[in-house]
Amino acid sequence: MAADYDVVILGAGFGGLGMAASLKSANIQSFVILEQEDALGGTWRDNIYPGAACDTESHLYCFAFSYHLGVSRLYARQPELLAYAQRIASQNELEPHIRYGQRVVSADWVENETFWRIGLASGTVVTARIFIPAWGQLNRPFIPTFPGQSNYTGTAFHSARWPRDIDLSGKRVASIGNAASAIQYIPEIAPAVNQLVVFQRSPNWIVPRNDHLYSTEELKRFSDPVAFTEDRRALFDWRETTFERMLEGSDDAAEMEQLARQHVQAQVPDPELRAKLIPDFPLGCKRVLRSDDYYPALTRDNVTLETAAVSSFVPEGIITTDGTLHPVDVVIYGTGFETQSFQGPVDVHGLSAHSLRDTWKDGAFAYLGITVPQYPNLFLIYGPNTNLGHNSILSMLEAQFGYVVQAIEIILERPNQAIEVREEVARQYDAELQASMAGTAWAGNCTSWYKNANGRIVNNWSGTVQSYKDITAELRPCDYLRTVQSAR
Ligand code: NAP
Repeated sequence: MAADYDVVILGAGFGGLGMAASLKSANIQSFVILEQEDALGGTWRDNIYPGAACDTESHLYCFAFSYHLGVSRLYARQPELLAYAQRIASQNELEPHIRYGQRVVSADWVENETFWRIGLASGTVVTARIFIPAWGQLNRPFIPTFPGQSNYTGTAFHSARWPRDIDLSGKRVASIGNAASAIQYIPEIAPAVNQLVVFQRSPNWIVPRNDHLYSTEELKRFSDPVAFTEDRRALFDWRETTFERMLEGSDDAAEMEQLARQHVQAQVPDPELRAKLIPDFPLGCKRVLRSDDYYPALTRDNVTLETAAVSSFVPEGIITTDGTLHPVDVVIYGTGFETQSFQGPVDVHGLSAHSLRDTWKDGAFAYLGITVPQYPNLFLIYGPNTNLGHNSILSMLEAQFGYVVQAIEIILERPNQAIEVREEVARQYDAELQASMAGTAWAGNCTSWYKNANGRIVNNWSGTVQSYKDITAELRPCDYLRTVQSAR
């Protein structure tokens, strides 16, 4: 039986769209993108909270094959980033390939057919020779549970599920969480609300962001692709040098910590409040945040930083471990995402019905973050150990697109052909990668979404982007087993 498509991509976020555009450039036309929602854009479709923006510079937060030339500011905000995703789709004529409202629930490798059988929530089945999950790392909201939470009678929502019609004016609001998402919405909502209580479990290292709207002169320069490329290259090179900050005990880390300390010193005059905002873990252990307006928001009369832990909910609000009742009308969970499982609720079975959930039970891993032994013709985008703390994630995605296209070209050379990364190659790679994490700040003494409960770092890449580009530039055929089923 012939497969329905050569390639199925799961997800129409930046990973899925970029992969699809790369397939088209390589003249691979038989593919479909299965998107569970009714619109494309992934994280930049979902995160519509006030102030949502990327803290990688706009020049870097775009693909080399489609520059973000019209962007209005140094750090693009959600509407411009969503518009950029839509532009990638239209420029590359991807819309006819996208099937909206199609939630993938399973993917099973059918050995004797040499294809993936992909099951949708609707009961429909799609088959493809190659399966590319581009399911993201930050798209399944995590909401912690607290005693009495279901008895709370106010409004509650996660930052990535911000209700479009919510009006917070005059309301008493709680933010549980104070990290990358929260520090963006807190300054935006603080002036409108009656009271805002920020529940902080741990502080973060925060450095100045220096965001600004581009001047007319800058916009003119950036509309020229040659000038844009030059500026992008310089920015990329500079960001690469900042990788050293991710190494614990390095001079660069010490310098950045000093910058963060000066920032809080300059923006928070009250020494008591300031003391609560200084972390006791190494810089970089959790994501380093960038903000110009978070600390000033905390100094407002109507904003309180609460460091006593949330112990329970009652119908009218939140009770902290010191017994205080905080009556609130709205609770915002800026509590992050389920980042460890990667596959989320999708059941994936490879050769001999191996279950990916089982393969990854001690922590997700993949050769180059892309391929897993026992799962032929499966290629992950933004997979395990491909996240960054110092440069643009899109540059990592681009390296993956190029590698996956090479793999697909090999597979499509012959009918019924499959390739599978060799177990020993993947295991050795993983052992070396994990060993190389030892000197990084992520291995430091803090909890973060980069690490699992065993302390294994499952999300981050341990080097520079260039080092990842180097090892993914050329697919080495010797890393793979190649099988061809006889024609039926
Ligand atoms: P996050 O970094 O995982 O932060 C979650 C926050 O919720 C932390 O403050 C955490 O405290 C707190 N929290 C979690 N469980 C809690 C509990 N049971 N009780 C009290 N507090 C709890 O999530 P995020 O802020 O949504 O950011 C996730 C990632 O998305 C970022 O690291 C970044 O990669 C991306 N992002 C990027 C941008 C940007 O580019 N500017 C903006 C938003 C998001 P602890 O620190 O104590 O765990």
